[in-house]
Amino acid sequence: MVTSLIDGFQNFRDRFFGKASSEFGDLVSKGQKPKTMVVGCADSRVDPAILFNTRPGDLFMVRNVANLVPPYAPDAGLHGVSAALEYGVRDLMVENIIVLGHGLCGGVQAICSHHRKLQENGGKPDAPSREFIGNWIDVATPAMQNIDFANWQDSFQHDAERASIKNSVANLRGFPWIAEAVKAGKLHLHGWWFDMENGALWSLDEGSGNFIQLVPDAAESKPTR
Ligand SMILES: [Zn+2]
Repeated sequence: MVTSLIDGFQNFRDRFFGKASSEFGDLVSKGQKPKTMVVGCADSRVDPAILFNTRPGDLFMVRNVANLVPPYAPDAGLHGVSAALEYGVRDLMVENIIVLGHGLCGGVQAICSHHRKLQENGGKPDAPSREFIGNWIDVATPAMQNIDFANWQDSFQHDAERASIKNSVANLRGFPWIAEAVKAGKLHLHGWWFDMENGALWSLDEGSGNFIQLVPDAAESKPTR
């Protein structure tokens, strides 16, 4: 695997640093000017650069477990996501922030399983099996109010993934300089959900709170013979 990564880098080097291309040279001499920031999941299947077919310099990105945006909390904590948001919005002045969630998200599955166990144990939490994940995914707890964990069905996981995206977009608005830029019409917030089972892309309509399909299922797009 590591050898294939080195081969991959050589490929990249030839493509972007070869005689025929000045693309990376421009990015080095002029600096990065991405118009879009993505808050994505660490999941290996949902790399935004691959999903959206982008070029180097296009996306300013922060990825974490379950693509969460924590609430605005300007204290001495180690706020990696908030620091990335601050740089993206205040220094790079991106015009869009996309919170990119996805189907079959392990992080959201973990928070659902935590809440299901709470139901089963009459509100008593299990001893945590990991050191960091539990506290981190707790960021999504406010989004879980409408999920019926007592009568769990597998399809609820997608509801939880979408609810968590909605919660993260709401948390973005809690950052004063994000709210200000949005109000000035300089920044637009988006909540997208990648349906990896069907190859579709959905977008949060903040007015209705529903997700609408931006790109249909792959099966619907195949030419009929
Ligand atoms: Zn995920």
